Amino acid sequence: MSFLSVDQDLARDSYYAATAVRELRFASLQGDQQADVAIVGGGLAGLSAAIELADRGRSVVLLEARQVAWGASGRNGGQALAGLACDQSEIERQLGEGPARDVWQMTLEALDLITQRCQRFGIDCDWQSGYLSLAVNERKAGELRRWHENMQRSYGYEATWISPKEMRRWIDSPRFHSGIHDARSGHLHPLKYSLGLARAAAQLGVQIFEDSPVVRLETGARPRLYTANGSVTADQVLLAGNVYLQGVARQVEPRIMPVGTYIVCSEPLDPALCASLIPSRSAVCDTNFVLDYFRPTADHRMLYGGRVSYSTSTPPNLVASMRKRMATTFPQLADCRIDYSWGGFVDISLNRAPDFGRLPKNGAQSAPSDGLYSVKSHHSNVYYLQGFSGHGLALTGLAGKLVAEAMTGDAARFDVFARLKHRPFPGGAWLRTPALVLGMAYYRVRDAL
Ligand SMILES: Cc1cc2nc3c(=O)[nH]c(=O)nc-3n(C[C@H](O)[C@H](O)[C@H](O)COP(=O)(O)OP(=O)(O)OC[C@H]3O[C@@H](n4cnc5c(N)ncnc54)[C@H](O)[C@@H]3O)c2cc1C
Repeated sequence: MSFLSVDQDLARDSYYAATAVRELRFASLQGDQQADVAIVGGGLAGLSAAIELADRGRSVVLLEARQVAWGASGRNGGQALAGLACDQSEIERQLGEGPARDVWQMTLEALDLITQRCQRFGIDCDWQSGYLSLAVNERKAGELRRWHENMQRSYGYEATWISPKEMRRWIDSPRFHSGIHDARSGHLHPLKYSLGLARAAAQLGVQIFEDSPVVRLETGARPRLYTANGSVTADQVLLAGNVYLQGVARQVEPRIMPVGTYIVCSEPLDPALCASLIPSRSAVCDTNFVLDYFRPTADHRMLYGGRVSYSTSTPPNLVASMRKRMATTFPQLADCRIDYSWGGFVDISLNRAPDFGRLPKNGAQSAPSDGLYSVKSHHSNVYYLQGFSGHGLALTGLAGKLVAEAMTGDAARFDVFARLKHRPFPGGAWLRTPALVLGMAYYRVRDAL
């Protein structure tokens, strides 16, 4: 079964879909349209870019294959976090210390952007500040502590170290050794947030078309996007389709790979019990490579994510195995009912750094001979945003802003990211999944140590 049909199944039973109202529906594209900018993808990246471009006076058409926020943006863990999925050392290694600091600052700006947009557009999405990054044993605690000290020293990262003695005041779980609390990061209801952005974009004049999969991109002086029943010709195009592009941009798609991740949501808990589990109401991640991520919801449920599928098939007995994970963390929840379970695919890049850029001008379909792409070969009017690697809830907002800056004449900040080099997954389109499964087996073993 293709991951697209697996993804359809995974989308069905989400807590978010059950607790957000889709007030707006958009027609599908019929006929030919013109715009300054055409965007593929109605997730947070595409919507953010659309808003920023409309703010800058550009006419924008956004094409969404299904419904806005149908993809990862409407069903993720809701954790809006500082930083990137990769460690800052990867950015330092590639760009140097100064630009790496700029990147870190931009990830903080991404958090502020969420607050600003909620205020500006009146979006109520259950924002709750606070994030705990927790180590499950002494060895991992040592790694986390060294990381925290380095981030404080080099980046002025403000977070509080939680010693083993203090741990139970932060989380009523036997699983964790020590950790850090970051008051600036937080969590929200991602579907309410995304739908709020879609409403804002429409109010700003962005033309949104749903049920309009783009099947072909024609590059050139005025690129053109084709759907089954129409087309959009624009001065510039943004591809923000996550793992779903399916051949629209074969030059860059092999550099990301869909990895499944899964979430369950409990029945509403006694509010006092819920408050006792994580008194600060923070979002939580453990520091394992295959991590558990969880948080209380505004209506006192435990929303618990974890497991991964590198083969894109859904793990068997998903609900039972997720319940077991949740009960290992919180034995108090061993008997609670699971009301929702769902999942989705994240777009991981090989080095877990975000992959932003422009397609090669000549429309070349093949990779450079060394497999590495650099900003120099990316000079066309077709931009792309991908490779958020499971860390895109906040970063997509900033990415949309950077693309809008670049498209309207100031590419300085976009190009900091675009200078990051990325390799395609080894083995090409068909072999990249098995290669990754093998690679990940190594990290699973390390997680167990
Ligand atoms: C289960 C899960 C949990 C996650 N948890 C977190 C978390 O807690 N914190 C965090 O920071 N990140 C998390 N993420 C990652 C985060 O959700 C993503 O990084 C982010 O939402 C990506 O946004 P996007 O706009 O790039 O992609 P999407 O939201 O997937 O949007 C892409 C859209 O493009 C459309 N599209 C694709 N191709 C075409 C086409 N050819 N024509 C028209 N439309 C097209 C798709 O239908 C889709 O709606 C999680 C992801 C998942 C799946």
